[in-house]
Amino acid sequence: MLRLYDTAIGAVQELELREPGRMSMYVCGPTVYADPHIGHGRFTLVWDIIRRYLMWSGVEVDFVSNVTDIDDNIIARANADGRPATDVAQEYEAVWWEAMDRLGVQRPTHDPHATDFVDRMIGLISELVERGKAYQGADGVYFSAESVPDYGLLARQPIASLKAGARVELDQEQGKHDPIDFVLWKAAKPNEPWWPSPWGPGRPGWHTECVVMSLDLLGDDFDLHGGGIDLAFPHHENERAQAVAAGRRFARRWVHSAHVVAGGGEKMSKSLGNVVSLPDLLDRYDPRAYRLLVLQSHYRSPMTVSDATMTAAERGLERLDGIARRFGTALDATMAEPAALARFSTRMDDDLDTPGATAELFDLVTAANTAADDGRWSDALALAAAVVDITGAVGLSIGGESADVDEEAAALAAERDDARRQRDYRRADEIRTQLQEQGWIVEDGPAGTVIRR
Ligand SMILES: [Zn+2]
Repeated sequence: MLRLYDTAIGAVQELELREPGRMSMYVCGPTVYADPHIGHGRFTLVWDIIRRYLMWSGVEVDFVSNVTDIDDNIIARANADGRPATDVAQEYEAVWWEAMDRLGVQRPTHDPHATDFVDRMIGLISELVERGKAYQGADGVYFSAESVPDYGLLARQPIASLKAGARVELDQEQGKHDPIDFVLWKAAKPNEPWWPSPWGPGRPGWHTECVVMSLDLLGDDFDLHGGGIDLAFPHHENERAQAVAAGRRFARRWVHSAHVVAGGGEKMSKSLGNVVSLPDLLDRYDPRAYRLLVLQSHYRSPMTVSDATMTAAERGLERLDGIARRFGTALDATMAEPAALARFSTRMDDDLDTPGATAELFDLVTAANTAADDGRWSDALALAAAVVDITGAVGLSIGGESADVDEEAAALAAERDDARRQRDYRRADEIRTQLQEQGWIVEDGPAGTVIRR
């Protein structure tokens, strides 16, 4: 079974599923007010790879990822553009799904929207107020962090040091009793969308959104809560604190993926002004190259996205595509070499060692080509079938026709196959040389000559 680093305990641990053979996971999704950036692309790919790998391993996966369609950024953008917040949210949600589709990220089993859950969020906040874990301040309802004894678990910091760090932000939310408290319900300001509540018109805070939707759709004690490492504290800790305070069993495991470093070496963030838009990246490179780059990086290590790393990933894709073209329709996943699949699983189960698994994958590519070059076809097919099975397991589609094979080159390839069938190896070699001189890579596949640029 898959072992992952659990942020809450600070160690790599095997997943212990609530229901054997069925995994329930929640991953915080986008706030839809701008184009997604390459950091969004990375974390969605990490979770897509985990999900697909579990499915390949025979585990059913319930995958919930939310869409935050009301928040300060959406409202600010709507007011700046002079249009309703719902317009902004719908526009950028469409941009989000288009980018996800291009990346080959599978749609979640459920994609709850915050605005559809406001009643249930009010329900949770009311319960927290009744239990004495939350209180009404001048500008909203706040959660009393100190009311949860182990508050700070996901920050891996004691409450005293969190308090010291939080003090500077106190003036932004005036109704707080304590700097580490956080807002559950925000009283409406002029020009803001609002919903009625026991505390007057307003809207729910982001931290309440995810705790309500995850528990509602996956149930108590669900298997895994994930997201980017920047969300571990305070967002995830605040979700967890609300669940604990409400007497609910929350996520069994907490897993976080690392950030992206764009070109120059600085951490990606809006304030640095070096955000690279995900749609722009996908326009410039084969979208599959981004998935391969994510696979070649460990999910807990920062990943550099630059022209050099993307171009290298595209070259890797060419080698994988070459396997699919060379062996083509002769491949059948059931022929895959079992030892290769076992090595892949061992790597993946070890805290999602995708860099190790990918290195093994490219070794398989080399071995399959060598076996084919030597005419050991049954070995070659078993190795190539493992390549196809493994790339499928991590959502990397390979293959495709060599679009640029012209009629003349195709005719020469066919003539070479005829010559070989007639044992005219001299003529077959002549044609190979002729094709190579025209810039083709010539390989023997199980069904005959395969050429590509
Ligand atoms: Zn969340």
